[in-house]
Amino acid sequence: MNLQNPDFKPMETKKIAVVGTGYVGLVAGSCLAQLGHCVTCVDIDGGRVKMLQNGGIPIYEPGLAEIVAEAVTAGRLGFTTSLSDAVKDSDAVFIAVGTPPRKTDGEADLSFVFESAQEIAKVIKPGGVIITKSTVPVSTGDMIERIVRKHRPDVQISVASNPEFLREGSAVEDFLEPDRVVIGCNDENAEAVLSAVYAPIEAKGHPVVRTKRRTAELIKYSCNAFLALKITFINEMADLCEAVDADVADIALGMGLDRRISPHFLHAGPGYGGSCFPKDTLALVRTAQEYGVSLRLVEETVAANASRKRRMAKKVSRVLHGHVEDKKIAIFGLTFKADTDDVRDSPAMPVIELLQRRGAIVHAYDPEGIEQAKKILRDVVYHNDPYQCADGADAVVFMTDWDVLKHLDLAKLARVMRNRVMIDLRRMFPPEEAAKFGFTVETVGRTGMEPQPISAFDANWLVSDITIKTGPVKNDALAILYDS
Ligand code: NAD
Repeated sequence: MNLQNPDFKPMETKKIAVVGTGYVGLVAGSCLAQLGHCVTCVDIDGGRVKMLQNGGIPIYEPGLAEIVAEAVTAGRLGFTTSLSDAVKDSDAVFIAVGTPPRKTDGEADLSFVFESAQEIAKVIKPGGVIITKSTVPVSTGDMIERIVRKHRPDVQISVASNPEFLREGSAVEDFLEPDRVVIGCNDENAEAVLSAVYAPIEAKGHPVVRTKRRTAELIKYSCNAFLALKITFINEMADLCEAVDADVADIALGMGLDRRISPHFLHAGPGYGGSCFPKDTLALVRTAQEYGVSLRLVEETVAANASRKRRMAKKVSRVLHGHVEDKKIAIFGLTFKADTDDVRDSPAMPVIELLQRRGAIVHAYDPEGIEQAKKILRDVVYHNDPYQCADGADAVVFMTDWDVLKHLDLAKLARVMRNRVMIDLRRMFPPEEAAKFGFTVETVGRTGMEPQPISAFDANWLVSDITIKTGPVKNDALAILYDS
């Protein structure tokens, strides 16, 4: 008993099962254990489970390894391939399996969700709650409820929605310090169990939105569609800036300081990607069509983002005067954003494919994404070092804004490249700076930059280094110096 605070209530710990140990399931499971609950994570991928049981982490996510290790040591987190072992005594069962787009029509493929729901329904205890954490179209909860009724017609089992808003790269913090938690319940039992699960987070002052199940399902899609739309808006403004000699970074600054708008998701770039925005926008459009509602803004967002990858590839081609055939192009960054190893729907993938189709020889560097990228793109030469990747290259394309890339030594990069051509699709470097090292710079949302005349100091430095490395060379930067 807490003598100082008569209102003190000890935390009601719950027994929880999480189905799926991907980016969402593993983060949610380990964070819920960190909050004090007793969690078992289950996956059909035996290799993944074995790795977790042996103390390994199958995905790259900052801070995740530490909280998994802590929770396992505390005896509150375990891993298994047996769904029935994980589920049978649990108060709450979270479904966190993938919902990829169906190849035929772009609708969310719910087969993994329904397969797990069916297995859970067979073994969950009376009074247990099945919760979809996967992103699922509105009314999926109703369908899960029908599956449950079919298998357990006489037992009270609740079905709830608790969409996840974490971002890869900051997933642990997003889960433990969320902007809000959304709980969608159609009965009191579900609401009581979910409220107890999230009590430690609510106690820290994070808002909990309690609503009906269908509304909760739709909140998730509304958020992702709105953010995708915001990115697409600034990308289109970037195109206009390039045409009228304005700078989209300043536009974003001027807009973002308006508190009604906020500066987030106003960074112009190669288009949105990742495992959520592309599939969720498409799935939302399909849902709306099914219900006879037109979501024109979201439809346009999907179309504009798809064509953006081609526009980016064209940018590369244009700066190489239309000739990419047999050119060595170094791609810096394969993941859809920094601090993740996830390459699903990353803009880098179609840009690379488009360049290869035109005959480019693509080399690529990424600090974390190479293993995943290898599964998708085989005809790429992968490097663990950016300078090695750019050695002898005709152009370097910045696709992902990794910190390590922001701190590249541009002088060194200039020395190793055959032609100093930089296509900076993430606005990593002020073009004026890069131009000082002899780069021709193409960027996004402002006009590019021709190489600047090189100072005598820089030239000496470049010469000495190059002489040591390769002997006498024909060097663009020196040509510029002598020409000027
Ligand atoms: P993921 O592909 O990384 O992980 C899914 C996991 O589920 C895999 O390990 C797979 O083996 C496992 N699985 C599939 N069927 C199973 C079954 N029947 N039983 C047990 N395990 C099974 O997916 P993810 O990125 O974690 O996404 C999961 C869901 O969360 C999706 O609906 C996604 O849209 C949503 N979401 C993802 C993010 C994100 O940033 N990745 C953020 C919010 C929401």
